[in-house]
Amino acid sequence: MNALEIDGLTKEYRNGVKALHGIHLTVKEGDFYALLGHNGAGKSTTIGIVSSLVNKTSGTVKVFGYDLDHDLLALKQQIGLVPQEFNFNQFEKVIDILINQAGYYGIARAEALKRAEIWLKKLDLWDKREQKSMRLSGGMKRRLMIARALMHQPKLLILDEPTAGVDIELRRTMWAFLRELNQQGTTIILTTHYLEEAEMLCRNIGIIQQGQLVVNTTMKDLLSKL
Ligand code: ADP
Ligand code: ADP
Repeated sequence: MNALEIDGLTKEYRNGVKALHGIHLTVKEGDFYALLGHNGAGKSTTIGIVSSLVNKTSGTVKVFGYDLDHDLLALKQQIGLVPQEFNFNQFEKVIDILINQAGYYGIARAEALKRAEIWLKKLDLWDKREQKSMRLSGGMKRRLMIARALMHQPKLLILDEPTAGVDIELRRTMWAFLRELNQQGTTIILTTHYLEEAEMLCRNIGIIQQGQLVVNTTMKDLLSKL
């Protein structure tokens, strides 16, 4: 089963910027995949389209077989997104952010509380559950975004530059967390502009340059050619 299949994906923004020029990309179920590229290459646009936050211009996208054009709700159920920018309601408490997120997916409050407790404990945020999100540090907010993305138990977790601006200690903690999540069966795709991060975590890698996928291979193969 493929977790993600992208065919001939193009994107032209309303201002005329052509961000993607026909991306073909397949990520297998269970993979840990890195999308590597410089700033402006098209990484955020690609994952924005996959998670239906950005409209595509043309091409097809399927997530676990669900087509973006025909099965949007089912597709959204499969995906947990960790965006690059914090987008919490500043005045909402940590625990409420998670419970409300679960609510979007029709998950009952009691079940949501159970799940929230698990993720908050795992991500070392349990003590902060009654805090308003604006009182959290940058690293805590990032961990909270991961917890939020996991509330509906997505099979595919997509993270946009998850460790940008994160100190080395937290970066290692996050890497260990993601590795464990992947070992337990969640397919993970992350974007990064650090080869080192991709190397530490990922099995397969795509390199995107100016809206085109120029390399799509195993991490081993890439490293043997450097
Ligand atoms: P990356 O995530 O790799 O840094 P992006 O996908 O953000 O790259 O950007 C790809 C290109 O699309 C860039 O030229 C960027 O300036 C442009 N772009 C991104 N978002 C928008 C937008 N909302 N409107 C217009 N152009 C955009
Ligand atoms: P909609 O577009 O369906 O109205 P919103 O964009 O208001 O949904 O999303 C509600 C909240 O959930 C926002 O904070 C948003 O960033 C976040 N969010 C949206 N989609 C996802 C997702 N797939 N995984 C995690 N968080 C998401």
